[in-house]
Amino acid sequence: MTGPAHIRRAAWRGLLRHAGDVARASGFEAIGWLLGFFIGDEPYVLDVVPATKYGHQSRYGAAADPGEEAEVAARYPRNVGIVGIYHSHPFREETRHAIFHSATDDATLKTRAARRENYLSVVTDGRAAECFVLRGGQPKEVEPEIVEDLSIAGRLEKFTANIAPTFSLVLEKTTASEIVASLERKVSDDLDRALASASVETGSVTLPGLDSKTIRNRLLIEPSGDRHRANLSLRLEPAVYVAPGDASEVLRAIRNEILDDIVFLLWRGFDASAVDLEGVERFEANLGSLRIHGSSPLPKKLYRAPERATILRRRP
Ligand SMILES: [Zn+2]
Repeated sequence: MTGPAHIRRAAWRGLLRHAGDVARASGFEAIGWLLGFFIGDEPYVLDVVPATKYGHQSRYGAAADPGEEAEVAARYPRNVGIVGIYHSHPFREETRHAIFHSATDDATLKTRAARRENYLSVVTDGRAAECFVLRGGQPKEVEPEIVEDLSIAGRLEKFTANIAPTFSLVLEKTTASEIVASLERKVSDDLDRALASASVETGSVTLPGLDSKTIRNRLLIEPSGDRHRANLSLRLEPAVYVAPGDASEVLRAIRNEILDDIVFLLWRGFDASAVDLEGVERFEANLGSLRIHGSSPLPKKLYRAPERATILRRRP
């Protein structure tokens, strides 16, 4: 990492305030996530979100809940979202310098930096804060550059696609979970095929062959002789935010964003492990919808649950 960590002042203030509030209320350590994006190897932090659930929490240690971290991550489109973590050392009055990166903090950062180099770790005592990244397994302090007004505009370009794909499979009779897993593999393969003939224009990506007339997101499973026929039909408007001048990154990001959306809808729409397909004539799952909301300072993905999630009809 060559430059500083760019941090919007409101985000910096937000994490100091959160740490201070938790310290006053309970004396405990506070944890939260840093949200933004990377350009090259430099992190941009535009927002923070405090953890609300903890694995454990005390004055000298705390662990975030992995489920909550996954939920926070799923709220943002590809290339935007969690770029780091912050936590507090609320024992300023007990020591000369409460801001340091402990061995535990190194271990926590190591699990994240494995996924993203230059994943940031901010440590605060509630009054001041310091930034760290991992270098050769060791914490290295990096300079924060506090910017009054930091936004996505002018730094990342937005690309959208408008697709209505359908995916069909016929399988030996099996479980709903196995059908969903097979569908996910099929989606991944079909997307790779569509991508080979995709084109990128200003602000949009065209993916040929993914345009049925579907208007909502639905999974249908029906018996077909001694087999199961599954049909997944979707209407999606994925958006990705990519640094200018990298068309191949646009395609890679949009492919992964579409896959993220479909996996999310299948997971969130219904619980496949709770569906018993024995003797079923027709199983229909309405998967709800996802859309991008261009909120400030970062765009968010909004999920809308279906009114009636599943309909299951068995042989009389
Ligand atoms: Zn610590």
